[in-house]
Amino acid sequence: MKRIGVLTSGGDSPGMNAAIRAVVRKAIFHGLEVYGIDQGYAGLINGQIKKMELGSVGDIIHRGGTVLYTARCEEFKTLEGQKKGIEQLNKFGIEGLVVIGGDGSFQGAQKLTEHGFPTIGVPGTIDNDIAGTDYTIGFDTALNTVIDAIDKIRDTATSHERTYVVEVMGRDAGDLALWSGLADGAETILIPEVTYNMNDIVDRLKRGAERGKKHSIIIVAEGVGSGVDIGKEIHKKTGFETRVTVLGHIQRGGSPTASDRVLASRLGAEAIELLLDGQAGKMVGVESNKIVSHSIEDALSRKHEIDQEMYRLSQELSI
Ligand code: ADP
Repeated sequence: MKRIGVLTSGGDSPGMNAAIRAVVRKAIFHGLEVYGIDQGYAGLINGQIKKMELGSVGDIIHRGGTVLYTARCEEFKTLEGQKKGIEQLNKFGIEGLVVIGGDGSFQGAQKLTEHGFPTIGVPGTIDNDIAGTDYTIGFDTALNTVIDAIDKIRDTATSHERTYVVEVMGRDAGDLALWSGLADGAETILIPEVTYNMNDIVDRLKRGAERGKKHSIIIVAEGVGSGVDIGKEIHKKTGFETRVTVLGHIQRGGSPTASDRVLASRLGAEAIELLLDGQAGKMVGVESNKIVSHSIEDALSRKHEIDQEMYRLSQELSI
């Protein structure tokens, strides 16, 4: 293999730049040429492909977002779109591809591999919703952003003696809500993996109020439903003054934490090792702090699980 490509796809996440840097530098270290593909699979189909040098990835390790831009591309879900993408890769003499993105992007990577084009997936998403890795690139940064926001909300919750509902991202996964709730001592954490009972939440709030607790923080994962609706229901059932904050896209931005930069560097570099080893259709990940790889097909067929023990702990500590 002499020439490889790299793209970022789907939702962006902090640390994608550090991953691109690792892919480019590790590839050049091994004497490969690297081409960057702008705007994910859309740019692949359109031939938005450019040569990258060592300097192309200078001064980006600390930046959020992705210098290769990202996009969603319906056309790539079709066989025709995938063939157009492979034609472009062939035109540029690219022999292997690294796709940095979430599970949707991995589906695309799997398709390319099935059509005979060697592709490796690097998990980049704040949602931490990919099986086969303990952490995805961007999760730790998003978590810290959420914690910073909740700390601030807690200050005002204490001063005003209110109930605060905070809706956090995570798509269908509850990791961001669970980890931030545990890290911030939230009274209640609602995640899609565990069915909630509104009466229990109300009882808990009332019990807290009876023993003199003047404020509460309730974290709602977006996969559970609307934080606004849950806030309204709580207000109706308790009469407590309730405020809702939907954190939104601030969770996807910002300078990546040290953990995300290190993870991105390790995973990006491993993707190149796999390509050089002749492997395809694999995703890289980290399990028990060891770099691992799994077949993308296998990872996509499994569901990322939350840590049940951690959920129980969050409940025990917020009685
Ligand atoms: P993420 O990678 O963050 O999960 P998406 O689910 O939006 O984001 O997927 C990103 C892109 O991956 C899609 O816009 C599409 O181009 C490609 N993709 C998603 N699913 C498939 C599929 N089944 N086959 C081929 N490409 C896909």
